[in-house]
Amino acid sequence: MTPDALAEHLLEGLHAQLPPGVELAGFELEVGELVEVDVAALRVELERRAPGVEVVITPVAGLLRCLDCGARYPPDEHPCPVCGSGRAEIEHGSELGVKRAWVRQRDMPPAATE
Ligand SMILES: [Zn+2]
Repeated sequence: MTPDALAEHLLEGLHAQLPPGVELAGFELEVGELVEVDVAALRVELERRAPGVEVVITPVAGLLRCLDCGARYPPDEHPCPVCGSGRAEIEHGSELGVKRAWVRQRDMPPAATE
């Protein structure tokens, strides 16, 4: 999915969940390091489509689990550093989604922070 399409998809999903009378103020996005997405480009697209909405992008480190010996190891050590097996499943690093979102009352400027 291109950053452009992904940004649209994420924002549509967020806006669909908003209760009446509030607007999106910001959200936190988890992106696993094994997800092939250009995070910088995604941030640009999100900020362009949702000006004024805070975007927090939290990277999630990749972690594989060996299907033969059960060892957990980072993806750049593949194959398994313990038994040498190439069979592994992804435990972490394939995350891509909104972890949490926050809202503000519509028609009220955000509180000044200066
Ligand atoms: Zn192993």
